[in-house]
Amino acid sequence: MTAKIATLALLCSCAGAMPAPTGVTAACVTDNGIVILDPVPPGYCDEIQGVEDRVFEAFRSVVPYDARFGSSKARVKGWAVVVVDALVWSNPGGGSVLGQTDCDNRVIYVNNNRPATSAFGHELAHAIQNCQPTEPWVLNGNAQDYYHSNWVPIYTALEKAKLQK
Ligand SMILES: [Zn+2]
Repeated sequence: MTAKIATLALLCSCAGAMPAPTGVTAACVTDNGIVILDPVPPGYCDEIQGVEDRVFEAFRSVVPYDARFGSSKARVKGWAVVVVDALVWSNPGGGSVLGQTDCDNRVIYVNNNRPATSAFGHELAHAIQNCQPTEPWVLNGNAQDYYHSNWVPIYTALEKAKLQK
């Protein structure tokens, strides 16, 4: 079985496995049930809630494009977010990344930028899709891999929400 790991890559996007977080506590839980794990800086929970709201608002325009977004809010309940204490890190599969989504363990890893400028919006899109490609499966100019297949509308939605693509 292939691990479903999607990354926001700087250089390349490769599959790899991050260790699942253990022994951590929740800093907060978003309105849609995403658990934000400690440690986070002051104000982070309010900011990430704002970004979550913006993502779902922007993604409404994507719904007709992929029916799977229709139940997107229910999909992310119980996911965890880990803020990595780095701006970029090495993906075990190769390359440097700003964020990763581990669909097998339902964990989003984001860099330590504030939520509005971190990889959170991008990784949340992977979580909503459960690391599946947008149908129909089509490669595009912004990404040449399975996980970002046909992501032009998603990039447009993220851009509309003024978030990292
Ligand atoms: Zn990605």
